[in-house]
Amino acid sequence: MPEAMTLKTDFALRNKLRITGAIVFETAWRIGSGKEGETMSDLGVVLDPTGQPVLPGSSLKGKLRSTCESLSHSLGLSACLLNVEASGVPCVSDVKYYHKVRQDYQRASAGELSQRLGWIEKYTCHVCKLFGSPVRRSRLRISDGRLDSWTGVVQVRDGVVLDRDSHTAVDGLKYDYEVVPAGSRFRISIDLENHCDDDLALLGAAIFEWHAGGSLGGFSSRGLGRFRLQDVDLATVDFSDAAQRLRFLTNRTDESRFTKPAQGWEAYFGERINERLSTLGASAKEV
Ligand SMILES: [Zn+2]
Repeated sequence: MPEAMTLKTDFALRNKLRITGAIVFETAWRIGSGKEGETMSDLGVVLDPTGQPVLPGSSLKGKLRSTCESLSHSLGLSACLLNVEASGVPCVSDVKYYHKVRQDYQRASAGELSQRLGWIEKYTCHVCKLFGSPVRRSRLRISDGRLDSWTGVVQVRDGVVLDRDSHTAVDGLKYDYEVVPAGSRFRISIDLENHCDDDLALLGAAIFEWHAGGSLGGFSSRGLGRFRLQDVDLATVDFSDAAQRLRFLTNRTDESRFTKPAQGWEAYFGERINERLSTLGASAKEV
């Protein structure tokens, strides 16, 4: 039962990777609070109880997921986009597809847990394997951003309601919205457990993309939310290495629990991306 044995090890912690860095906004940005702002503007931004801007981990994770989805194809990896019909990629994260193939599974198995997990593994795309889905726990966690610095004030901007057909402003329909000014900086931390080489190639490509720059939050079509990921650093734990395992289990601070890879992040991820691309090259030649 080689399949069951592989899955069994998934319950054990094999490795950990921690990516840290700083998200620096080069333009103003906004993550909407869904209600009026503190400044009485129509559309507020998310602030903590002390009035400081919040960069939620859920927003970062959503952005990282969409970055990975857009890069997956170039690495020969699959992304169902949570819509099997639109993407053409079979994945049980899409509820409709789940119900469709569920009957096959029930016929093929006596309902044992290992068989059920094997079935979920088989019908899950690469992106859902990394980020999780309704039937699968995520192996990736992102903390809320920790505010490093900002200007200390929220700005209010005016917007006009546009007529979709004529693309002209509708008379008398104006609103205002809050933004956090350019230059704000947050520390972030991305944790990944039990990664395989494909995970590292995909996540690494996304980190290169964020380093080059992207957009985050609302109104990006108006030029809001341009950011870069700076000061990227890596730390790992390999639980098959007795010394690393001991260090992780018996120390209290992250600095002493994790091990720093000898390579910098560019070489570390670059190597994994290269390996992934070279397997694609080999399979292309075989065809
Ligand atoms: Zn999927």
